[in-house]
Amino acid sequence: MPAHLQAAAVPDTAALIKDAEASLMYVVTRPGKVMVQGKGSYLWDSDGKRYLDFIQGWAVNCLGHSPPALARALARQARQLVNASPALYNDQMIRLAKLLTDHSCLDKVFFANSGAEANEGAIKLARKHGALKQNGAYEIITTWNGFHGRTLATMSASGKKHWDELYEPKVKGFVRVPFNDLPAMRQAIVPGRTCAIMLEPVQGEAGVIVATNAYLQGVRALCDEFGLLLILDEIQTGIGRCGTLFAYEQYGIEPDIMTLAKGLGGGFPVSALLAKDAVCVFEQGDQGGTFCAQPLAMAATLAVLEEVIGKKLPAKAATRGRYLLRRLKALAKELGLTDVRGKGLLVGVDLPKDKGAEVVSQCLEAGLLINAPRPNTLRFMPALNLSTAQVDEMLDILTPVLRRVLA
Ligand code: PLP
Repeated sequence: MPAHLQAAAVPDTAALIKDAEASLMYVVTRPGKVMVQGKGSYLWDSDGKRYLDFIQGWAVNCLGHSPPALARALARQARQLVNASPALYNDQMIRLAKLLTDHSCLDKVFFANSGAEANEGAIKLARKHGALKQNGAYEIITTWNGFHGRTLATMSASGKKHWDELYEPKVKGFVRVPFNDLPAMRQAIVPGRTCAIMLEPVQGEAGVIVATNAYLQGVRALCDEFGLLLILDEIQTGIGRCGTLFAYEQYGIEPDIMTLAKGLGGGFPVSALLAKDAVCVFEQGDQGGTFCAQPLAMAATLAVLEEVIGKKLPAKAATRGRYLLRRLKALAKELGLTDVRGKGLLVGVDLPKDKGAEVVSQCLEAGLLINAPRPNTLRFMPALNLSTAQVDEMLDILTPVLRRVLA
């Protein structure tokens, strides 16, 4: 544990867990550990135990934990201007919007605070566009096992079957089709009713299911043929995660609308809804939010994005991702893992048995954080700037755990 943390008065872990159970609303079962410090690819808990982090806040901390550029930007901006008003321009919001539009195929940005909020904005924008320019079309086609957030509309857009009974009645106007199935997509289009198709280039929460080139290019062609908007949810795949700044770049297509969050703020909560000029149909009062484009979030995001772009981290993620895939494929041969796939540093591995949760929990005890989005799938989403040695270190922990659990 870093010396300054050792010296700090870290409360007793058991007492902290007792307070947590007494005062935090239950939404998820968490392990009995309390994280107190992070640096780069490592996290420390309140007992001083170190973890190699291949989750990074669910693909959020693209520069690793507490990156100096982010800390400096937050400290500087906190002294300068924390919050103006969403109805006033601030210098950071303008600089960031220009940076994002200069580096993407989209023309305009609306900033928000979470991925779900950006997707809500995308759904509203598509519906307004449908009302004004597509003869009242309102329906959005999404994909089974897709994940777009936890607000009511984004839950309705998501393709998690077990959510279908939750919080009824849902928001209407979504049709779901199997992912990577172009004929099913074509069949679901109802001219005059369908206004958009919304999907992820790689379904992250579904277990890292990569859209094929032919599929995404075919979906773009369907949008062009029927005059529909293509909404790409790049909340997990964007900001270098897949080896290019945005995943769409690898498919040779352009979306009409794109949403970003997660890696965008490198750990600071922020999101963005981007669109082509022709799609920007919001009018006064249609969209907004108290904290949207707040200077502190904008400054944090600028610092993160400048580092991601300036240090060419997407290309580094591609190189490191290839190494990770190669090593995992070798391991798959040795241990009978049934599939290894991914793009850049978003990687999934299928196990021959539904032992994902056991592998995750044994890795945690051994000092490694990974995640299991499905009972038989492990997911790896480390910092974009991790080293080859850290990939080796991860495999040194994972391999004996897999040997044990799959024996
Ligand atoms: N869309 C995708 C593809 C995601 O992976 C997530 C979160 O995991 C979301 C949307 C929702 O983002 P948030 O949790 O910030 O609302």
